[in-house]
Amino acid sequence: MLWSGWGDPAKAAELPEPVRRLLGEVLGIREPAAPAATFGEVRLPAPALSPLVLTSLGAIVGGDHLRFDDDARIRHTRGKSTPDLLLMRAGNGSDAPDAVVLPGTHGEVAEVLRLCAEHRVAVVPFGGGTSVVGGLVASRTGFAGVVALDLARLNRLVSVDPESMVAELEPGLRGPQAEHLLAGHGMTLGHFPQSYEYATLGGFAAARSSGQASAGYGRFDDLVVGLTAATPRGTLDLGRAPKSAAGPDLRQVILGSEGAFGVITSLRLRVRRAPELRVYEGWRFGAFPAGVAALRRLAQEGPLPTVLRLSDEAETMVGLAKPSDLGSLSSDSGCLVVAGYEGTPGDVSYRRERTAATLAEMGGVYLGPEPGEKWAHGRYAAPYLRDSLLAAGATVETLETACFWSGVPRLYDAVRRALAASLGSPLVMCHVSHVYGTGASLYFTVVTAQTDDPLGQWAGAKRAAGEAIVQSGGTISHHHGVGRDHRQAYALEIGELGAEILRGIKERLDPAGILNPGVLIP
Ligand SMILES: Cc1cc2nc3c(=O)[nH]c(=O)nc-3n(C[C@H](O)[C@H](O)[C@H](O)COP(=O)(O)OP(=O)(O)OC[C@H]3O[C@@H](n4cnc5c(N)ncnc54)[C@H](O)[C@@H]3O)c2cc1C
Repeated sequence: MLWSGWGDPAKAAELPEPVRRLLGEVLGIREPAAPAATFGEVRLPAPALSPLVLTSLGAIVGGDHLRFDDDARIRHTRGKSTPDLLLMRAGNGSDAPDAVVLPGTHGEVAEVLRLCAEHRVAVVPFGGGTSVVGGLVASRTGFAGVVALDLARLNRLVSVDPESMVAELEPGLRGPQAEHLLAGHGMTLGHFPQSYEYATLGGFAAARSSGQASAGYGRFDDLVVGLTAATPRGTLDLGRAPKSAAGPDLRQVILGSEGAFGVITSLRLRVRRAPELRVYEGWRFGAFPAGVAALRRLAQEGPLPTVLRLSDEAETMVGLAKPSDLGSLSSDSGCLVVAGYEGTPGDVSYRRERTAATLAEMGGVYLGPEPGEKWAHGRYAAPYLRDSLLAAGATVETLETACFWSGVPRLYDAVRRALAASLGSPLVMCHVSHVYGTGASLYFTVVTAQTDDPLGQWAGAKRAAGEAIVQSGGTISHHHGVGRDHRQAYALEIGELGAEILRGIKERLDPAGILNPGVLIP
């Protein structure tokens, strides 16, 4: 993973010249005066851990699995939000951990937690490092140092129960590694977020991730039937049946806990048969509200495709345009729906026919497979484009929310208005990214010209959008999580009593407060 950007540096996306011109002419984007810092220019805090703590950590995980070199520290600094990338591009490594610890077993994780609690060392569980909500930055105040607990060595497929269609997997597996292991059994998880290539199963569970095929396979938390977590107070082993009436479901306390209550060391996950057939295709609606109505009907009456997303006019326009057409962007592109079907040929054909009938009845025009295939082909490429846009002088970031169907128009308008008021004349694009019987998630992408202070610029816009979300009755996050960035808004969502409950759980499981301090808990 590129330390100051996304993914494999060999896959960096160059901005075509017409796009550069358009950015300059329409959005007034100019290349930043100062070039981005090089790796060697990143400023790191002096390492704070005592020799005693380092020796003891090495004794638990083995010397080869304890690192405190600059390379390891820089690569475990923060996550991959735009502010995270801007800080790295400015050479600011102030949030770097003092050391990176790579445990190989649940027992080693438990031992590390015990040791760190004893010496008041903060522990940041680290999966793929793709958090976009500040979930990987620990407060140092009151701690003797910070370690990143990288779970990459917990990467096994432990068992498969083909009768129950449940597989036990370890949390350090990245999306493609997990799919590769399951493919050997003819199975799939079906969890494909845009960060799929780098994010891990533990991170999906800890941040309640949602994949692009959630209409068919469900969110990640829907897939978790059981889990094991190491906490400073001991082990939690939860989930012995698909559903239970034995009191509140404590699995839900760990799901979404973002490393603040414990470290997930094992996941029992619902799996599906690997699909025999995948078909993705496109539909066009004249206007966003008409497309929203069609998606609502599909979500409420079914059957649902596996992938279902609706882009608004702006996102459709930008997504459909070829670089050579960009000078003459018009607003009559309509709104693109991508509908994808994965399964057996019979299942695909049944759902496809029924979906097509509903979409046509609701005013949709069939565009054939090309837009769907184009989306499927480029589905993991957008983060590379963000790097190029940042380098070209754009501030570009995404944010997401969800609400009930009746609130969608208000939420959509409120967020766009807030972003426009804060940023001047940004390009704001949106799509309906996940649908349910009762509501949907809206995902916004914003592009604007960087000011001299892009961090302050985005902080203001994000604050404005967050307030608009809260006031319009949306949730501050449908799938990115809370981290540090959404703590205030989360506190408003759950109220003071809710916050007290969280603080109580934290105190019980992690009395020294070493786990991800500053994240999640209001
Ligand atoms: C370009 C891009 C695209 C994205 N697309 C999507 C998307 O489509 N859908 C989506 O849901 N999200 C998306 N995200 C957000 C992010 O990928 C998800 O939140 C993902 O779940 C994080 O997984 P990770 O392994 O990278 O976790 P990390 O970023 O390493 O950690 C996330 C949080 O979980 C904690 N944590 C990690 N592992 C464990 C563990 N084993 N036990 C306890 N706590 C743990 C960390 O301390 C941190 O607080 C995207 C992010 C980027 C940068």
